[in-house]
Amino acid sequence: MDLALSKEDRAFAERMRDFFTTEFPADVRERISRGEHATRDDVVNAQRTMNEHGLAVPHWPTEWGGQDWTPLQRHIWAEQMVLAHVPSPVVFNTAMIGPVIATFGSQEMKERFLPKTANCDIWWSQGFSEPNAGSDLASLKTTAVRDGDEYIVNGQKTWTTLAQYGDWIFNLVRTDPEAPKQRGISMLLIDMKSPGVTVRPIHLIDGGYEVNEVFFEDVRVPAENLVGEENKGWTYAKFLLGNERTSNAGVAMIKNRIARVKRLAGPLLDDPLLRARVTRLEIEATALEMSVLRVLAREASLPHGMPDPTSSVLKLKGSELQQDASELLVDVLGPAALAYRESDAVADGFAAPPEGAVDAMPTYFNWRKASIYAGSNEVQRGIIAKAILKF
Ligand SMILES: Cc1cc2nc3c(=O)[nH]c(=O)nc-3n(C[C@H](O)[C@H](O)[C@H](O)COP(=O)(O)OP(=O)(O)OC[C@H]3O[C@@H](n4cnc5c(N)ncnc54)[C@H](O)[C@@H]3O)c2cc1C
Repeated sequence: MDLALSKEDRAFAERMRDFFTTEFPADVRERISRGEHATRDDVVNAQRTMNEHGLAVPHWPTEWGGQDWTPLQRHIWAEQMVLAHVPSPVVFNTAMIGPVIATFGSQEMKERFLPKTANCDIWWSQGFSEPNAGSDLASLKTTAVRDGDEYIVNGQKTWTTLAQYGDWIFNLVRTDPEAPKQRGISMLLIDMKSPGVTVRPIHLIDGGYEVNEVFFEDVRVPAENLVGEENKGWTYAKFLLGNERTSNAGVAMIKNRIARVKRLAGPLLDDPLLRARVTRLEIEATALEMSVLRVLAREASLPHGMPDPTSSVLKLKGSELQQDASELLVDVLGPAALAYRESDAVADGFAAPPEGAVDAMPTYFNWRKASIYAGSNEVQRGIIAKAILKF
C-alpha cells in the first residue's frame, strides 16, 4: 500500500494547517507549546471556534454537524490541531457521548443534547470507573433504582477526569442486580448540579488537579435521561470505547515532545549517545505513524464501532513513546528539571531553567497515566495475545 499522502490529502492537510495556525489565539498556542495545560476557557473557546467553522465534530453524522470525511482526513484534522498546539475539543463530548447519543439516543435526546455538546455549552464527564471496577468495568456497583418516572442513583465513581468542570456526567449504573454482570448495566445522563452529587478532588504527584471522585447519594434522575434501553448500557459502553481506534497513539503529541527535546537540548545534541536516543525515538515515532496510517487505510472497511485489536498495539506503543519522550526531556534538562517553578531553581542555586523547562518534571509525572487509562497496557497486552497472537 502507498503510505504517502495523495495530492488531495496534502491539500487538505494544508487547509487544516492554515485554519489551526490562523484562527486560534497565538498566546494560547504558545503556552501549550511550552508544555502548559490548556485552561477550561482555552478548551471551550477553541471548541466553539471549531464549531463555528463546522470543524468541531467531523466524525458525527452530517445532520448533527459532522463532515463526510474519510478516516484519513479525520486523522489529518486531529494531527494538524495538535501540531499547531490548539487545545483539542473535550474528548468526553466529541469522541464519547456525542456519537453514542447520535446513534442510540431518542430524537428528543439528540435535539436536547447534541448541539450543546458540539458547542461545549455542556461539558461532559465520563462516569465509568469505580474503586473496584477499572479494568474489570462490568463489576461496577453504582445502582439506579426505578421510582415512578425517575431513577434513584447511589454509588461512587473515581478517576473522573476534569469533573470539576463537568455540567453533566454519562454514568454506567446497575439497573438489574440479578442479571449476569454485563446484562444489568444501563447508561444514564445525570445533571451534576442535581442534589446528592459531590465531586472531590484527587491530588496528583505532578501538583495538578485533573481527576476526581464523584459520589451519588439518592440522586433523582428523570427516566427520560436513560440512553437507549434499560440494561443495554454495556453495548453502548463498548461502542463508545471502540470508537477511536487510532487516536490513543498520540503521534502528533510525540512529535511535539521530540521537537521540544531538541529545542531545549541545543549543543547537548553533539553528544553521540544523546543523539542516538533522540534518533531512536524519532524512528519509532515514524514507525508508529506508519502503523496508524495502515490501520486507517483499512478502517473504512470495518463496521462502525467494531473493536479492532490492532488499536491495542497503537495504544501500547504510543503510550510508551509518550512516556519515553517526557523522560528524555527530564534527562536533557538534568538538575534544572527538578525545579517546579523558576523561583525554586534560582533559590536552590541553579541557573534559571530554560524557558518552558519548568513543566518538564510535572509532565514526566503526569504522563505515567498514559499506560493506565483507556485500558491499561497490561490489559492491552492480554488483548494482543488473545486476539492477534491467538494464545
Ligand atoms: C489520569 C486518569 C484519568 C482517568 N479518567 C477517567 C475518567 O474520566 N472516567 C472514568 O470512568 N475512568 C477514568 N480513568 C480510570 C481508568 O479507566 C482506570 O484507571 C483503568 O481502567 C484501570 O483501572 P484501575 O485503576 O481500577 O486499575 P485495576 O484494574 O485495579 O488494575 C490494577 C493493575 O492490575 C493490572 N490488571 C488488571 N486487570 C488485568 C488483567 N486482566 N491482566 C493483566 N493485568 C491486569 C492493571 O494493568 C494494573 O496494573 C482514568 C484513569 C487515569 C489514570
